[in-house]
Amino acid sequence: MEMLEAKYYEKLSDERVKCRLCPAECLIRPSKQGICMIRSNIDGVLYAAEYGHTVAVNIDPIEKKPLYHFKPGSEILSIGPNGCNFACVFCQNWSISQVKSQSRYISPSDLVKLARAEGSVGVAFTYTEPLIWFEYVYDASRLLRDSGLVSVIVSNGYINEQPARELFPYIDAANFDLKSIRPDFYRKICKGKLEDVQRTIRVAGEIGVHVELTNLLIPGMNDTDEEISELVDWVSALDSSTVLHLSRYFPNYNLDTPATTPERLIFAYNTAKKKLKYVYAGNITGIGKPGTACAACGADLILRDGYNVSPVGLDGRRCVGCGHESDIVI
Ligand code: SF4
Repeated sequence: MEMLEAKYYEKLSDERVKCRLCPAECLIRPSKQGICMIRSNIDGVLYAAEYGHTVAVNIDPIEKKPLYHFKPGSEILSIGPNGCNFACVFCQNWSISQVKSQSRYISPSDLVKLARAEGSVGVAFTYTEPLIWFEYVYDASRLLRDSGLVSVIVSNGYINEQPARELFPYIDAANFDLKSIRPDFYRKICKGKLEDVQRTIRVAGEIGVHVELTNLLIPGMNDTDEEISELVDWVSALDSSTVLHLSRYFPNYNLDTPATTPERLIFAYNTAKKKLKYVYAGNITGIGKPGTACAACGADLILRDGYNVSPVGLDGRRCVGCGHESDIVI
């Protein structure tokens, strides 16, 4: 297919362009790409060079995204582009986010057909950073919506406000990484700004996207008592019903710090549970309850054993025990 001109950029002198899609706002010279690797300046025009090119195609349990309060127990077609606008030293998917790899083109209409053929509830744009795939996610999510299927993003939340407001009305659910509550962490490790990620999370919630958050606890980088408390405070100020996934880090890519200890995860879990209704520990078993209890009466709503999910106590969104309406999207 012909390459598609990118949205959100400005033409400058000498065939240079300024991309305005994400807060990195790359200044890109001719024949070069932005730091995300997938927006290319060709003769002074910025192209969405990897439109529709996916480096992975899988059917995953939606809980693997992770999303625990959105279509529980369903399976979702999951795809993602090459590249990312962050370069985290601990990246768990560095072989596709930081290095160019083989891709396969799937048009938005073929994506809808594939999702239907697989019996999927929709499509998750995931694995690397879907927001840098803006034009494709926008076109595909509109088509998915028209076809009665859902769109999910699993994202670092690093996008400018205007494109976020254009895209999010077509996104049904998102899991955003909130990597740390310290601006320094974002500046040094991600070469980004915390405030931009926080704004994206707020804007998504305001637009009505079902939002869950993930925090990967990395020893010595973002896991002091104070950092954990501040992060929980920020999330609870957003909404104490926000689902928070606390995830165990394992060494990967350019970081060989040993894995998060269970004790640190337990501390984080207990701290979060004091202020948030729904907290889950990920990449580890035996911390907290993997299931979901009714916020009003405490009865089991959903049981989880790995990716075996049983919505035992729900009648639609309501608790069968007390009738309380949960915020779980069925
Ligand atoms: S989307 Fe890519 S090219 Fe555009 S500003 Fe962000 S990192 Fe740079």
